[in-house]
Amino acid sequence: MTSLQDFRSSFKGQITTEGDAEYDITRWAKNAARKAKYVVYPVNAEDVSKAILFAKANCLEIAICGGGHSPSGASSTEGGLVIDLGKKMDGVRIDVEKKLAYVQGGAVWGSVDDASMKHGLVAVGGVVSHTGVGGLTTGGGYGWLSGEHGLAIDNLVSATVVVASGEILTASDTENPDLFWGIRGGGSNFGPVTEFVFKLHEQRMEIYVTELVFPNDRVSQVLDEIVAWGKSQTPKEALHLVFTVPPGGHPCIIVLGMYNGPLEEGEERFKRFVALGPIHNKSGNMPYPQINKAEKHAAVRGQNRLFRGTFVPTFDKELLSRIEPARQKMVVDHPSTVNSAIILECYNPEKVASVPVDATAHAGRHGNRHLSLVLNWNDDGLTSQMRQVSKDAMSNIVLKDTGAYGNLSDADVGSGAERSIELFGKNYPRLASLKKKYDPENIFNKWFAIRPA
Ligand SMILES: Cc1cc2nc3c(=O)[nH]c(=O)nc-3n(C[C@H](O)[C@H](O)[C@H](O)COP(=O)(O)OP(=O)(O)OC[C@H]3O[C@@H](n4cnc5c(N)ncnc54)[C@H](O)[C@@H]3O)c2cc1C
Repeated sequence: MTSLQDFRSSFKGQITTEGDAEYDITRWAKNAARKAKYVVYPVNAEDVSKAILFAKANCLEIAICGGGHSPSGASSTEGGLVIDLGKKMDGVRIDVEKKLAYVQGGAVWGSVDDASMKHGLVAVGGVVSHTGVGGLTTGGGYGWLSGEHGLAIDNLVSATVVVASGEILTASDTENPDLFWGIRGGGSNFGPVTEFVFKLHEQRMEIYVTELVFPNDRVSQVLDEIVAWGKSQTPKEALHLVFTVPPGGHPCIIVLGMYNGPLEEGEERFKRFVALGPIHNKSGNMPYPQINKAEKHAAVRGQNRLFRGTFVPTFDKELLSRIEPARQKMVVDHPSTVNSAIILECYNPEKVASVPVDATAHAGRHGNRHLSLVLNWNDDGLTSQMRQVSKDAMSNIVLKDTGAYGNLSDADVGSGAERSIELFGKNYPRLASLKKKYDPENIFNKWFAIRPA
């Protein structure tokens, strides 16, 4: 498939170039957009295969786009070809009897929640409904239910992957198990996943959610309570601790807590925070899909954003006490970052850590919690500095590198082989062998690229 004419005549979806009404290179983060030569919208795995072969024959860089959420630029390409699954391959089908969800590679988590919860069933997905299933799952996948059910990849039953040769392969425990191992944490290194099949769990509709806001001068008391709460955190409860300045507001700390059970039990689990006297308290029951629509700072598309994340030892008050000063210093040095947020995500880690680290490609099985800097800036002129700004801010909090989660480490994407080696840890050599088998020319190299062995 070398000529554009052949490609156009056999492709069932849509092929667009700059100037076409449907040509769309926008991403959730403004700074992640790149001017692609072609943006193609396949309708099935065969189309995806044709797009790969066309790109290879014409020496075009390939980017795979799912939900378009990654601020790293990994789902975009300058001058290459984007296989954008989000436009026409975003369907979800639920098999109620078998408790399985069949999810196309371009779907977003909100669609999965909405389709499965009609039947009282749920998948482990991300905490923001418009995040893509594709990138989140292939990178690992944490969410509110990870304490009970593990990562998205721990609930993956099988997947359809179009590899670099253009072959369409099923990956599962019984078919191409090595590829199945690699796509569970190895990101987009092995090619577009056109369909995911997830195990579903029974889920009550109403969950308890509490959103409490404290002025930032209460940080010490809030951290004392976080440390105390963490000692008896059950798998059914999770919490986000957010340090931010809401647009037009004052510096504050937000405790967003979730209990997957009845109201009274949820109130009991989080009453220690309410007792501190928040300036804002919005607590009560809500339907499960709603909590994934609650993170308002994430709702707006098209702002400049970058994530830098790191795993941190559980509830180390000394370390957590450095977050607010580091945020303040960053804002003083770079006022345009004022609405950025630093988020500690506290899911009960035991379920995730119970899976051996070499059971999937994802290396973050140590039981530590994740801390993310969500950088946000208005001035486009500052974009090139922001990787360094994020690095400086994080190094003022975490004095020694304690490992990272690839999906929330966008600031490091493209920073070289060493970072990929660090990220995948002892799973890297096996990933490199798999890369040699499934992508020997390294055409899928936009995320944390793995060099073929
Ligand atoms: C607002 C927000 C909330 C988030 N919340 C969470 C969370 O709760 N838990 C969590 O674990 N992470 C979370 N993340 C991080 C998220 O997992 C990554 O940004 C992820 O890459 C997003 O996937 P996407 O498909 O939307 O991204 P895209 O920008 O489309 O793609 C990102 C990467 O994934 C690859 N990719 C996408 N789809 C496919 C596919 N079908 N097959 C193969 N590769 C594919 C792309 O090639 C690219 O390398 C969040 C991110 C944002 C911006």
